Amino acid sequence: MKGTFPIEKLEQLRTPFYYYDVELLRQTLNAINAEVQRHENFVVHYAVKANANPKVLRIIREAGFGADCVSGGEIEAALKAGFPASKIVYAGVGKSDWEINLGLDNDIFTFNVESIPELEVINQLALQKGKVARIALRINPNVGAHTHAHITTGLAENKFGIAMRDMETVIERAAQMQGVRFVGLHFHIGSQILDMGDFEALCNRINELQAQLESHHIRVENINVGGGLGIDYQHPNRVPIPDFKAYFDVYAKKLKLRPGQTLHFEPGRAVVGQCGTLITRTLYIKEGATKKFCIVDAGFPDLIRPALYQAYHKIENISSEEPAETYDVVGPICESSDVFAKQIDLNRSHRGDLIAIRSAGAYGEIMASHYNCRQLPQGYMSDEI
Ligand SMILES: *Cc1c(COP(=O)(O)O)cnc(C)c1O
Repeated sequence: MKGTFPIEKLEQLRTPFYYYDVELLRQTLNAINAEVQRHENFVVHYAVKANANPKVLRIIREAGFGADCVSGGEIEAALKAGFPASKIVYAGVGKSDWEINLGLDNDIFTFNVESIPELEVINQLALQKGKVARIALRINPNVGAHTHAHITTGLAENKFGIAMRDMETVIERAAQMQGVRFVGLHFHIGSQILDMGDFEALCNRINELQAQLESHHIRVENINVGGGLGIDYQHPNRVPIPDFKAYFDVYAKKLKLRPGQTLHFEPGRAVVGQCGTLITRTLYIKEGATKKFCIVDAGFPDLIRPALYQAYHKIENISSEEPAETYDVVGPICESSDVFAKQIDLNRSHRGDLIAIRSAGAYGEIMASHYNCRQLPQGYMSDEI
């Protein structure tokens, strides 16, 4: 495993910390751009919530992406990183007034609206400023995704979006308002989706909805299909870059775009997931009654995905080349859920060894907390250490 990471440099840094492989991030962005450029009407907005580290954001902005934001704070972070407001989309079921005003003041590309009360508030606030907000309706397509139950969002039972049967009523309401202009439809069916059939099901649903709207002479300028493409948590070395060709091809082949329509994407995890690693240090090897524990200095405040979603991350001891032994890898927090992995093989581990928790670039650093009065983990770029 040595050689994959610049171990002498990592040794100098205070653990735990996130390490971002800038070269892999750039390769991933290039892979996306190579596919997107084959389709002149495809536009990509990076989902800022996956990772808002300012240096990560800057690299993504330099690749020409727009930003998908879900809060006022994310709009501020995106603007600060240099994303043009004209490429910012803003979604969320609970937008507060200051957040809507921030979007209006900056003339963002669209508000993705999730309810009639929200539409009314955006209209009011826009009128107060003498502006017209571009709005897309987030429709709940009732399409299931074969992923973890906590991260499906497109089922009728989820809190997200407007029910399909209300779509036309809401469009009619919007048409009567002076402060908003209806420009598009927005969807997002979930996260960590690896079955292209799920995206195909979304395409079929959008085709039905577009046909229904057309029969009522309603035209939309753009379609936004959200994010959700998954990464290979099992094989970060073998599959460091997701299959963007297969992903974009589904939409190119299955979604019936009308002339002049643009198709917008909001990938988060697939952009940043594999470039990030949580580096932590072994504090103690504890021989339990029935098993060995590798106790590390990172805990769920640094990376909550295993505790929150029972997520799998590949874990490696990057300091040891000794034969493998079986461990539970656990953090220092006084909660039984503070476990990164149970009964996994690691090279025989000793106090002081560096442990790499892989594929942690998405929903890692950004979800870190101060729980137990801990410091937030730092994020380091591979070209700056
Ligand atoms: C979370 C989210 C995304 C990004 O999802 P990924 O699975 O990280 O690609 C995109 N759009 C919306 C509206 C979201 O809430």
